[in-house]
Amino acid sequence: MKTVYYLQPSSFCFGVQKSIQELEKLIADNPKKKIYCIHELVHNPRISKYLKDLWVRFVQSIYDVYDQDAIIVFSAHGTNRVIISQAEKKFEHVFNLECPFVTKIYREADAYLKDGITTFFYVGKYHHQEGKNIVEYLLSHNVNIYVFDNSKNIPQIDKKEKIGILSQTTLNYQKTKEIFEIIRKKYSNAIFPAPSDICKATYERQQVIIDNINKFKTLVVIGGKESNNGRELYEIWIKSNKQTIFGESLADVMQLQKKELFENETIAVTGGASTPKEDIQEVVDFLITNWYKKEILTLGK
Ligand code: SF4
Repeated sequence: MKTVYYLQPSSFCFGVQKSIQELEKLIADNPKKKIYCIHELVHNPRISKYLKDLWVRFVQSIYDVYDQDAIIVFSAHGTNRVIISQAEKKFEHVFNLECPFVTKIYREADAYLKDGITTFFYVGKYHHQEGKNIVEYLLSHNVNIYVFDNSKNIPQIDKKEKIGILSQTTLNYQKTKEIFEIIRKKYSNAIFPAPSDICKATYERQQVIIDNINKFKTLVVIGGKESNNGRELYEIWIKSNKQTIFGESLADVMQLQKKELFENETIAVTGGASTPKEDIQEVVDFLITNWYKKEILTLGK
């Protein structure tokens, strides 16, 4: 029987939902003010378009904004606190709409700094907005920071060094756990975040794939190209050498991988934490119209 498995949970997480709702409220409460969002609020093209249609302006830096009465909004990915203070000096209305799970990491970083720690390991990706921003924040305190997301790149430093460990919220849960274990064995003075910096939404979206991995042969992941949690879902599956399809929408999949979409009779569909439900539903519905029967798959008990 041809089956399309709709994986749950998928789509928006609590943090993404919260950031979007807070920005919608700011828009509704301030019809006469210009609103500037520094970088994408969340990494999804449909959401960015929706916000642009509501007249939100996206810019790369606070220095791209010349209207002092404008509202400045910082994204869900978290922002270097030095930049936030600069914005607060320059503008009257500044709102940090970061996810509370990212705030937790800044709090941990501040606690390490307060303890006098001067060496940090950041397990994450510097080119991603979340990683870049916290790394730059730490660098503004003149500390040594090593950034890596692979056990092969764990730095070799003095074994007695006191090290503050942090990680990006959206990495592969299992891989990060293994990296932490290696660091723990090697550096007895390393201090780890409790319980983990990887958020529940990331963990659950990965785990539902792992729990059901033998039930389907193709995985379709719908998500923004910049979305790290979407990419991590894709990579879990790709490592198992099965067929994986990644796109921002059904149109994207049809354009690039239409033939591959129908190669297998069992297909699972999911989306990252910043993917709107409609984008995932569109793929599921398309498969239903092509004689696939829909089933929901959830986390294993
Ligand atoms: S994926 Fe996690 S850290 Fe990122 S916005 Fe969602 S809940 Fe927050």
